[in-house]
Amino acid sequence: MSRIAFFDLDGTLADRQSALSDAVTSLCRANALPPEAEQWLRAELVDRANAADFARLREVFGLEASAPQLWQEYVDLMAAAVTCRPEVLEGLARLRAAAWTIGVITNGASDIQRAKLAGTGLASLVDGVAASGDLEIRKPDRRLFELGAARCGVSLADGGWMIGDNPVGDIGGGHQAGLRTIWLRGRPWPDELAAPHHAVDDVTDAITILLTETE
Ligand SMILES: [Mg+2]
Repeated sequence: MSRIAFFDLDGTLADRQSALSDAVTSLCRANALPPEAEQWLRAELVDRANAADFARLREVFGLEASAPQLWQEYVDLMAAAVTCRPEVLEGLARLRAAAWTIGVITNGASDIQRAKLAGTGLASLVDGVAASGDLEIRKPDRRLFELGAARCGVSLADGGWMIGDNPVGDIGGGHQAGLRTIWLRGRPWPDELAAPHHAVDDVTDAITILLTETE
């Protein structure tokens, strides 16, 4: 069994939702934005954020700051606010010590996802990163999994695991890429989708499964 594991980032290794809330609060305060703009941002960024959202924010509310400036401010605030729990970092370190290759395959803009990996301390624990913004291809597209494997210096033909919270993107996409899968419960499971190999409540349980599978 090959020791290759790909992880999703948001909602799997890192808690995007609480970071988002803090970052939006800080951004609005720093720019003295009205409550309507804050509400707008919270709704628009709930699933994902990219530079274009800030161009629209600027237009809708007639802001003076440039869109790239607002986006950069948001990226910096998110990178500062996002956290990865110490037990998750320790789990990944244990995988590495057991000769696992670890990749991150994430839907999101390249700059913010990498800033988050650096801000959480995850960057030094992973061998390679594929962000959907790198190729404008999103999970479950197999090509993003291929990119993730290539960035780790491995091939999907070697097999491995995909761990994530999104049924279609992570688990469906992982299956299509020929990987075994571990789902982090939380979202509704779509009826038509093939079941994951394992389902867990916490990413540390997924890491324990990986470590015991190869003992
Ligand atoms: Mg996710």
